[in-house]
Amino acid sequence: MSTNPQNTNASAPAEAARPSHFIRDIFVEDQKTKKYGDAVFQTRFPPEPNGYLHLGHAKAICLDFGMADDFGGLTNLRFDDTNPEKEEQEYVDSIMEDVRWLGFEWDRLCYASDYFDQLFEWAIQLIKAGKAYVDDHSAEEIRQHRGTLTEPGENSPYRNRTVEENLDLFLRMAKGEFPDGTRVLRAKIDMASPNLNMRDPVMYRILHASHHRTGDKWCIYPMYDYAHGQSDSLEKVTHSMCTLEFADHQPLYRWYIEQLGIFPSQQIEFDRLSLTYTLLSKRKLLQLVQEKRVSGWDDPRMPTLSGIRRRGFTAAAIRNFCAAIGASRTNGSTDIEMLEHFQREELNRTSPRAMAVLRPLKVVIENYPEGQEELVEVANNPEDPSAGLRQVPFSREIYIEQDDFREVPPPKYYRLSPGKEVRLRNAYFITAKEVVKDAAGNVVEVRCTYDPASRGGNSPDGRKVKSTIHWVSAKHAISAEVRLYDKLFINPNPSDVPEGGSFLDNLNPNSLEVIADAKLEPSLATAKPGDRIQFERMGYFCVDIESKPEALVFNRTLPLKDTWAKIERKAGS
Ligand code: ATP
Ligand code: MG
Repeated sequence: MSTNPQNTNASAPAEAARPSHFIRDIFVEDQKTKKYGDAVFQTRFPPEPNGYLHLGHAKAICLDFGMADDFGGLTNLRFDDTNPEKEEQEYVDSIMEDVRWLGFEWDRLCYASDYFDQLFEWAIQLIKAGKAYVDDHSAEEIRQHRGTLTEPGENSPYRNRTVEENLDLFLRMAKGEFPDGTRVLRAKIDMASPNLNMRDPVMYRILHASHHRTGDKWCIYPMYDYAHGQSDSLEKVTHSMCTLEFADHQPLYRWYIEQLGIFPSQQIEFDRLSLTYTLLSKRKLLQLVQEKRVSGWDDPRMPTLSGIRRRGFTAAAIRNFCAAIGASRTNGSTDIEMLEHFQREELNRTSPRAMAVLRPLKVVIENYPEGQEELVEVANNPEDPSAGLRQVPFSREIYIEQDDFREVPPPKYYRLSPGKEVRLRNAYFITAKEVVKDAAGNVVEVRCTYDPASRGGNSPDGRKVKSTIHWVSAKHAISAEVRLYDKLFINPNPSDVPEGGSFLDNLNPNSLEVIADAKLEPSLATAKPGDRIQFERMGYFCVDIESKPEALVFNRTLPLKDTWAKIERKAGS
């Protein structure tokens, strides 16, 4: 694989150091012992095209592509398309887009459905070797005879069919002679195996369904377990990484490969990523989309790659996060704040700053001459002198945040209040004199005076102000819609619900707040979808894909405050 040059950003952070974890140890060992001779290491990322990729997939992608890359190997993107009923081209397209966005490019694009002919031939081979048989039981009957963890299963009465009868029935299954669900092909292994997956697993089922690639050619489809290992083997995958729930399937993965005597791919299981306050399950995310609980797969509150991309997250931050979490052999839960920390760390270094007032309150500076205006000079990014300076207009009437004024200030409130002086960032010191209220008694305007000697926000005589607030000149301000996002769920583990409940009960009813008319400094008029900006004091924002020059829309990626350091300290103490 190679890193997608589109994503190489000159100001991107240095990628995190290569993490050490048990998978890397396996690669090192296999390299040392030349387990696969002189063959290059081969990995694959095998999504089922039944939904959009989420952050859990990002972890798998970073491992699959990242490990191959570190060892000079290759990575295939393989669509595991063995479930015709749930799969769609839309998902295939979005998955390719997301893998590339994350910064990876596959060596070969493959589909499990490319192997349907080969898998069918191998099934016949297994039947002929007496290792597979056609069972006339329904799925329900098969389940009933399967036994439990403590009791062995029972042999099916169809288990001892002759090879001829099995061949005949299987070929007729493939020809479409039987209705869905009436017969299956099963591997003949061991109904008393302590591993339930080895109790004569189903290899093929009858499904008269159109496939997004093979159309109506097939009316029998291979099961995941029968398709996956052989697909790996056909692609000469050396290290087939998957999540821990497949550990119990590994004996079956090996059994097929051994019976067929084909390339010995090895399966390695790692921990599934689970993040607090969100859900990483395509099935549940699909439900949110279908029930319109979110605006779509790319709703900026979704943990999908398309969602967090729209929210303003960067591929580099996600890769750095994945490097930091590494891989282990036990499932756990990761604080979402850790991902946010990596994102803030990058945005703090790279985002240009701008002033935007989200909830405006008008301030009139009485002693500033009417009709006068001036430009104040502001650093685009104090963290990066090379980002340069820009000029921001200042005039007699400005907007400040409603929160930055209190008519009756509570204790320790150091921002603007009657009689108090504050600094307008990069501009002047102002002192509040009086307020103007509407009929309902709400403050709608604050009358102030300014000190002309404090230009640039510098104290003229050493006198101190306790607070610096941002502002936008009213006359020059541009309007924009601003969308503020909060966690999608109120519970750190959204699946944690009482008996009879649903994860939907844990949805945060306030996860989206839309501000229709925020006031922005005029330099933002030319902001384009995808641009990332820090609104001073308010957070990291990006321009939404729906934004237009005459109707700007900004998404808040994250507020400024980083809570991860605190969580880490607490964990360490
Ligand atoms: P979901 O339950 O969300 O549908 P899945 O495992 O069925 O997930 P696939 O499309 O089959 O999704 O997954 C492709 C690859 O991504 C697999 O190797 C799978 O193990 C891995 N993967 C999926 N979810 C996670 C996760 N949360 N953490 C790490 N890897 C994951
Ligand atoms: Mg799956």
